[in-house]
Amino acid sequence: MRRRTVLFLLPMATVMTATAAATPDVGPASLGVPIVIAHRGASAYLPEHTLAAKAMAHAMGADFLEQDVVLTRDGQAIVLHDLYLEGVTDVARRFPDRARADGRWYAIDFSLAEIRSLRLHERLDPVTGQPVFPERFPAEIDLFRIHTLEEELSLIRGLNRSTGRTAGIYVELKHPAWHIAEGLDPVPVLMRELDRAGYRGPEDRVYIQCFEPDTLKRLREVIGTRIPLIQLIGENAWSPDLPVDFERMRTPEGLAAVAEYADGIGPWIGQIHQGLDETGAHRTTRLVADAHTAGLLVHPYTLRRDALPEGFGDFEALLRFFLVDQGVDGVFTDHPDLAVRLRRVFIGKDQPE
Ligand code: CA
Repeated sequence: MRRRTVLFLLPMATVMTATAAATPDVGPASLGVPIVIAHRGASAYLPEHTLAAKAMAHAMGADFLEQDVVLTRDGQAIVLHDLYLEGVTDVARRFPDRARADGRWYAIDFSLAEIRSLRLHERLDPVTGQPVFPERFPAEIDLFRIHTLEEELSLIRGLNRSTGRTAGIYVELKHPAWHIAEGLDPVPVLMRELDRAGYRGPEDRVYIQCFEPDTLKRLREVIGTRIPLIQLIGENAWSPDLPVDFERMRTPEGLAAVAEYADGIGPWIGQIHQGLDETGAHRTTRLVADAHTAGLLVHPYTLRRDALPEGFGDFEALLRFFLVDQGVDGVFTDHPDLAVRLRRVFIGKDQPE
């Protein structure tokens, strides 16, 4: 359904036709338009993973709001991107003697009460102490706090009701194998939270994403969840300890293997677009087409106006490349407002059906 609709509306039919037959026709795949996923909330405008950033993303019309989940010492699921706390909080000042030997303050070493006492701010580079995105929300304004997954799901439920517009959730389990090695299994914690909040299958507008295939296989094959699963694809150089061959995963054979346990992939944008060739044309891989052939959705990360890849003059060109030229099924973006507006221009639709 979804892709057929797009075909009528886009002049790029030739690009889309190659992938039309293979795209899954179930669940969220049939939402009618490529989805806009607010990466860590409206994180271009407010510090990532704050309730404020999530409320703003909801108001901007994002279809899905992203949550990264790690556990506290007392086994509570909190919304935080890193295993560590020092990049976005004042933990180093508040708890100077609680860093591990590697000089990092791990969330799993702190109780929820301790974590709640920290002030949260815009992300700083731990080496330079300078903001990662200098033009964004001022890092010295530390009005914010880390919250639990349960609290965020409550916020979204409330906004869905008060606005009459349903935004879905898009949860990432961060480093589950590492958590298990530390003695805490995040999988049952997550599934309990989702079940309690009524997220059980695609009809509830929910995805689970993870870099670790073993966790996704466990969710699908052992736990038997109906929630759509997205295999995130990183670069092995980023996490050499992870026993996953991401390069092989991107081959047609690797993608066919992913399709056995997952509904889609979340590739890094650099695995689809690789700069410009000598004539100035985009250098692209076959990843999107190959994934569609394998029956997988494609939701690449992360589109940012203030961190454009080589070869794009502005955010509009970047979004056009992914939505129109590549025909992806959704994008992770720090700028959900721009993505929603440009999707209307390119696709002629405001939101999923
Ligand atoms: Ca994430």
